Amino acid sequence: MDLGLGGRRAIVCAASKGLGRGCATALAREGVALLICARGAEALESTAAAIRSETGAAVRTVACDIATEEGRRAVLDACPSPDILINNAGGPPPGDFADFDLDDWRRAIEANMLTPLALIRTVVPGMVERGFGRIVNITSSSVKAPIPSLELSNGARAGLTGAVAALARKTVRHNVTINNLLPGSFDTDRLRGGMTKAATAAGQSLDAYMTEAAARTPAGRFGTAEEFGQICAMLCAAQSSYLTGQNILLDGGAYPGLL
Ligand code: NAP
Repeated sequence: MDLGLGGRRAIVCAASKGLGRGCATALAREGVALLICARGAEALESTAAAIRSETGAAVRTVACDIATEEGRRAVLDACPSPDILINNAGGPPPGDFADFDLDDWRRAIEANMLTPLALIRTVVPGMVERGFGRIVNITSSSVKAPIPSLELSNGARAGLTGAVAALARKTVRHNVTINNLLPGSFDTDRLRGGMTKAATAAGQSLDAYMTEAAARTPAGRFGTAEEFGQICAMLCAAQSSYLTGQNILLDGGAYPGLL
């Protein structure tokens, strides 16, 4: 199915690896011109080169920290009128509520709530004027079912979810949709980082620990960044103009609730 995205422009934040890279690649395959960012220039350039070579799409890069004012300005200066915005950044560290101070909370809220809101606030008027916009926020399954060891993430992402809910219902009449994609467990560097610590604590190898953990999930496996990206591209499709304000859980059935 042609998603009707040929010739569109997208900003994909935090896209040198993992889920962001999956989204960037899927959009490039649909003929979308990309502006991707990440902090590390080397991995960013290597990802841009790989996407260009696979898809032939135009891929520009800005090496920056998207969780800073300067980073956001650099990205928006490079792509001031995107048709598509994929909001993403590294997730906050795990830990215990009692150990987090207010600066920890400020960092989490800056990266995972205020950064997407700042970008949305800047790009929405142009999208409304042009009559097309697709915004996807990469959040977490923790929005549906908070994860005890990820309280910073639980709080910041719930804040973003609440903040965009009403906006998504105002912009849709201009063909500008805003949706949230909630990953469960996807095999990325972030997941492997967390599992490495857990495997060490359990006295197991990473491979053995991951195999057992994956086998316990309903799908019997972790998700891939590639399949995450494909769902993201579907949300951005021209055909998805009536789909807005939704929290779409992509977790291979891990969440056990009905709603
Ligand atoms: P990942 O594999 O570690 O990749 C993170 C990407 O984001 C890298 O390209 C990284 O590059 C970039 N990045 C991180 N912080 C950035 C910043 N401040 N500014 C610009 N780029 C930044 O992580 P992932 O698994 O794809 O996770 C992406 C998001 O989904 C995170 O917020 C994570 O918490 C959330 N999530 C993931 C899962 C999962 O199972 N993987 C589940 C739930 C939620 P640099 O380090 O070079 O900047």
